[in-house]
Amino acid sequence: MKIVQIAAEFAPIAKAGGLGEVVLGLSRELTSQHHQVDVILPKYSFINFPEPSEPAPETRFQMMYQGRMAANKIWSAHVEECSLHLIEPVELDFFRRNQIYGFPDDAPRFLYFCKAALEYLISLGKPIDVLHLHDWHTAACAPLLRDLYASKLQVGKIVITIHNLEYQGKCASPDLDSIGLEGKAYLTPRRMQDPNPLYPKTINLLKGGILYSDAVNTVSPSYAEEILHPEMGFGLTEILKRKQVRGILNGIDQTIWNPAKDPDLAACYHPTDPLAKIRESKNANKRLLQEKYKLESLERPFVGAITRLVPQKGIHLIQAAIEIVLKNGGSFALLGSSPISEIQQQFNELKEHYKDNPQVFLEYRYTDTLAHQLYAALDFILVPSLFEPCGLTQIIAMRYGTIPIVRSTGGLKDTVFDCDDGKIPLEKRNGFVFKDPTKEVLESTLQRAFFFWQNEQPTCLAMLRRMMKIDSSWRKPAEQYLKFYSNSTSKAQESAFLMKSRFA
Ligand code: ADP
Repeated sequence: MKIVQIAAEFAPIAKAGGLGEVVLGLSRELTSQHHQVDVILPKYSFINFPEPSEPAPETRFQMMYQGRMAANKIWSAHVEECSLHLIEPVELDFFRRNQIYGFPDDAPRFLYFCKAALEYLISLGKPIDVLHLHDWHTAACAPLLRDLYASKLQVGKIVITIHNLEYQGKCASPDLDSIGLEGKAYLTPRRMQDPNPLYPKTINLLKGGILYSDAVNTVSPSYAEEILHPEMGFGLTEILKRKQVRGILNGIDQTIWNPAKDPDLAACYHPTDPLAKIRESKNANKRLLQEKYKLESLERPFVGAITRLVPQKGIHLIQAAIEIVLKNGGSFALLGSSPISEIQQQFNELKEHYKDNPQVFLEYRYTDTLAHQLYAALDFILVPSLFEPCGLTQIIAMRYGTIPIVRSTGGLKDTVFDCDDGKIPLEKRNGFVFKDPTKEVLESTLQRAFFFWQNEQPTCLAMLRRMMKIDSSWRKPAEQYLKFYSNSTSKAQESAFLMKSRFA
């Protein structure tokens, strides 16, 4: 198959969270199965290629933007065994920024990128079997392709993956005018008008991606079900109900996440050997952090969280967990930062509060190296999300022999099964799960986990062994995506026809 992935992130060169890892992991696996996969990304100025390649003159192209010609350069490179094409607007500073998201002009930036990505594909002149879009940033490719470029670019089907329904890309109709779509014409309930009746003049890009694509999926089966209920659907439940939303659980890239060959660890260990995890963590991996952060002994239960600090992630529970862990004789580490200044401020105060406590360290930056070191050193990872489309941290943690303590929602529900739940077959039990997002329930769950870890060592070792052996590679999910791509063929033609007749 010839598959084109269009995305805002690609790990490790442009990663803000799980999205970048998914695009990398899926693309690498499909490439290794001999499919032709091309990934199109914006050329952020912070990207450092392993081997930079100056764009050849023929890979420059121009396109209409806001009624005038705009020039773009294409940087082609092979990164992590994947074929990448990075688009750099020559005159506009849309991607000359120090981070991927978080700017007031995010919608115009990514609308520009959508148009440029399709114009680039048109310039290559080759038919594509699957155009795979990810989240709101690239959702506008679907209406653009249907309404502007249908006769110029041959695409078998358009697939959109929802990595997080909370972020929908809302903008005004003139933003669509800029890329050549007549914005006002899309302000209808059947097209891209935001479903919130309070904002009738708002364009919702993700809604457009869902409606104009042939197939829609989320990154876990439970999340696919949950978003069909209004309390989890962020206003798009009725739109999603019109589609058959599939849930395909993410994998993790096992080359990047491999405790046996992880260059960031003080000591490596085989991912099926829990005794080695415990030994190396005690002797080297915990010690490394202990020395670096001037901590007291980490021999007690060591709990951590590695996360963006946004309401979705259950931040009130993360804050509460620090005190609970200390009270119950453990140590706590947090790696994460917040794009929301009030939340970051709360965490800064927390850091001040714990500054002299040698059992706590709070690190507010994005650093892959420390994330790897923590996964290896921690005994428990805490993921108390209020909702979670998939969640990669618990999957990575399990491969590193770190026991997940999670709230039962979305992908967390599909990957972690409580140790004490008699209804679950023993061979599936691999962590601790709680439902009510309260401090009391969190405390009793942490106490259960500590007791198990300290007093039931043979059972704990057996569980670690099972957990570390789980196949969380991209092999199975990639098979499911390939089936999904193929199964949507007839639906694709049907929906293209419907779309034409409905919107003609
Ligand atoms: P989301 O995509 O919602 O942020 P996921 O659990 O799907 O959450 O993926 C998060 C990914 O980002 C994981 O690989 C995690 O290790 C990583 N991560 C989160 N915060 C940080 C950080 N501050 N430093 C390094 N890696 C981080």
